[in-house]
Amino acid sequence: MKPRILITSGPTREYIDDVRYLSNASSGMMGAALVSAALKRRAEVTFISGPAEVAAPPRARLVAVVSAADMFAAVKKNSREYDIIIGAAAVADYRPLRLARGKIKRTDAAFTLTLVPNPDIIAWAGLHRTGAQVVGGFALETSSLLARARKKMKDKRLDFIVANRASAIASRRSAASILFPDGTRTDIAEADKTIIAEKIIDEAIRIWKVRQTC
Ligand code: C5P
Repeated sequence: MKPRILITSGPTREYIDDVRYLSNASSGMMGAALVSAALKRRAEVTFISGPAEVAAPPRARLVAVVSAADMFAAVKKNSREYDIIIGAAAVADYRPLRLARGKIKRTDAAFTLTLVPNPDIIAWAGLHRTGAQVVGGFALETSSLLARARKKMKDKRLDFIVANRASAIASRRSAASILFPDGTRTDIAEADKTIIAEKIIDEAIRIWKVRQTC
């Protein structure tokens, strides 16, 4: 049986007014590489992507979203139909409390923007997993990488987490470690993200297959 895989990817945009937004430097490269790797394994793939620099691989079903709220709604709507969910999106942590109409005018006064936290999409998927569903995510850190990644895996109830350094953002290459809840870990030496993505997809499918036999 071929797995059905749902992948979130790219940055999200949190609009301040009609022309300005908060976002981050995610290129969507890792998400796109995961989609290609999953298609290579003949999986049925849905790609929920924020506005990314890299094009979506053909043959995947693309759900294009803009904000974290859009991405969350798309994941909630689709998640039950998938065997594996991987959160590779760089979701903005906060969004403006209010969306201003038109374009905010510049003045000489200080400007304060009130931000509110966005929902944690992959944590929701981890909490609401169904049956043999496998849920994995990423941790991009500037310090204490493995310890922070392990904590995120636990807090978000993930089956694995891919730990990589912040230098991976918007880069073609990366080194990574895949951490599992039983304390084991697979280290992947620096390589093109296409290679890293294949190893991640293989691990996710392996876990899913083990669950099928339980
Ligand atoms: O907590 P942090 O943002 O470092 O966690 C990263 C992981 O959580 C990634 O897998 C990312 O896609 C996911 N995430 C999410 N929704 C958020 C924040 C992070 O799905 N609001």
